[in-house]
Amino acid sequence: MVKKIKLAILGEEPSFPEKIELTQPSTPNLEELTPALQEIIDRRWLTNDGKFLKSFELDLKNYLESSCCRVFCNGTIALNVASRALEFSGEVITTPFTFSATVHSLSWNSLTPVFCDIDPETYNLDPGKLEPLITPKTTGILGVHIFGNPCEVEKIEAIARKHNLKVIYDAAHSFGVKLNGKSIAGFGDASVFSFHATKIFNTLEGGCITCSDLDLNRMIGYLRNFGIRRESDIVEMGINGKMDEFRAAVGGINLKRVSTSIQKREALVMRYKEAFKDILGLNFQKMTEGTSPNYCYFTIKISANEFGLSRDEVYLCMRSEGVMVRKYFWPLCSDFPIYQNLPSARREALPNAVKVSEEILALPLYDELTIEDQDKIINLVKGLCDRSKEIKVALKSLNVDKLNIELVPD
Ligand SMILES: *Cc1c(COP(=O)(O)O)cnc(C)c1O
Repeated sequence: MVKKIKLAILGEEPSFPEKIELTQPSTPNLEELTPALQEIIDRRWLTNDGKFLKSFELDLKNYLESSCCRVFCNGTIALNVASRALEFSGEVITTPFTFSATVHSLSWNSLTPVFCDIDPETYNLDPGKLEPLITPKTTGILGVHIFGNPCEVEKIEAIARKHNLKVIYDAAHSFGVKLNGKSIAGFGDASVFSFHATKIFNTLEGGCITCSDLDLNRMIGYLRNFGIRRESDIVEMGINGKMDEFRAAVGGINLKRVSTSIQKREALVMRYKEAFKDILGLNFQKMTEGTSPNYCYFTIKISANEFGLSRDEVYLCMRSEGVMVRKYFWPLCSDFPIYQNLPSARREALPNAVKVSEEILALPLYDELTIEDQDKIINLVKGLCDRSKEIKVALKSLNVDKLNIELVPD
């Protein structure tokens, strides 16, 4: 008989009294960073197309194999600018299973998001459900390569061509991903990346837009800089989307680390998958065929009937152990009070998105996650499964609100 694992939810000792975060950002060493910072200070050029920004943009263009790339202060402003540069109007079809910024970028542009259901295994837009949502007001599709899993780009883009729609991909999770050997930055009319601290590649805060159309790229440049073409010539209602020199310097240094990050995370993901492969009721995201992934997140989808505990129960147990798991992505964007009254937000029309968002859980994954800590996490998940009956009884008598479980503000 295997020894039962101790569980905090049952009043026993927690596995991680010090807490273990979902992710941990990569940062440059001070020795690497100092010369760059010194140079910026000496040059007294802090922002506005400085030397570090230009060089970072060039490095990114090469890395992402894109003919055009513009760096932004963050991914959300970049998404806003992409919608505007492509002249989206009326309705834009998107996924409810994403981070809020995707959908907000549409409403900030006075566009109506139209929610399309997802595939229950890839968690991406289901191309088979797009066409019935197209109306005379539809001008675009905003797809998300969720957790770095490429959308079915060929199908989406064929539908877009047929109906004369533009396509933007929110590639916030997809830095470094390839599809059939081609960089993920090369699909659709434009792709938007985020370099937020929690992403696989970060500039503290930051983002970029890639595209292949020079005119579009020029427009993105004006929109990023208040609509200014020349000093006396303001051609668009632009915004301030610029990235400063300090962050560009961090980006240049961190970019050299991305491939090592991907390798380290791949090894960890393989260990998770190996450990969980025979556990009933735990499923993994199905990657699109031909994908070279970046392993930015590791999620499990928990089927309560088979596993013995629901996702929410597992979440409470793991949080009480000090493991800062996240419900990525719950609630669905279509369930936010600001969007829930849209006709496309009806839950009956989005059954797969509803189910995935109720079953999904992201586990800690970052470059420096140690094998010892990962093993503790793995043993906890397995331990929960073994003690599910006791846990259910305990949860019934516990007042969950009184549990000392720290919730992360979103
Ligand atoms: C992180 C993220 C964004 C927003 O990027 P920021 O750089 O944080 O503004 C947009 N979409 C998705 C899917 C994201 O995960």
